[in-house]
Amino acid sequence: MIGNLQRSASSLAELLAKEGVTDQRVLEVIAHTPRHVFIDEVLKHKAYQNTALPIGQGQTISQPFIVAQMTALLRQHGVSSKVLEIGTGSGYQSAILAQLFDKVYSVERIKALQWQAKRRLHQLDLYNVSMKHGDGWQGWASQAPFQGIIVTAAASSVPEQLLQQLDDGGVMIVPIGDAEQKLMVYTRHGNQFNQQVMADVRFVPLVPGDII
Ligand code: SAH
Repeated sequence: MIGNLQRSASSLAELLAKEGVTDQRVLEVIAHTPRHVFIDEVLKHKAYQNTALPIGQGQTISQPFIVAQMTALLRQHGVSSKVLEIGTGSGYQSAILAQLFDKVYSVERIKALQWQAKRRLHQLDLYNVSMKHGDGWQGWASQAPFQGIIVTAAASSVPEQLLQQLDDGGVMIVPIGDAEQKLMVYTRHGNQFNQQVMADVRFVPLVPGDII
């Protein structure tokens, strides 16, 4: 069983390489991370397909291709130590980050998802992810600055407070827009921010306000 699932994760990595993911470290980590652990029993047979899947509460686990590309972008910008993720969701993206960066901070507004994600990460012996139940628009000021910030839900406008939590030289990757979204990359140079448009993407919204 383990052997089969291991093969499944590695076949997913092979598929992503064919789709254009070139970062070998990211592919290696995807090949060794059991995505089925982050998915409900009834959908497990789809765990190693390159698709987003529902995870309950109206949320989704992101498409593996986009997980790989966003993670690779952080690495391309020299991120290695401290990363903030907004939108823990299933915990899959956190698990990938945890294996590539020293320390990961992850914020989720739905408590039930956060608990489940924490359990799954421990199940995989990943203990370098700190989690917070809170509003991602606010980031995690007490742990700032971050070398990298990755937002895994679509923001209607640039989350200014997150930009302020970036370290000098740091990078934030964030989908911006409502129905139509662009994946944006912001880099900080002192108090100047450069922005770059990467791709058209589709994420669930970064909900403003209340946590549940
Ligand atoms: N990284 C996740 C993707 C989950 S989908 C994964 O790999 O599975 C996006 C997540 O963002 C959802 O879990 C949703 O509840 C969360 N989210 C949406 N708005 C938020 C906000 N304002 N603050 C924190 N989390 C938020």
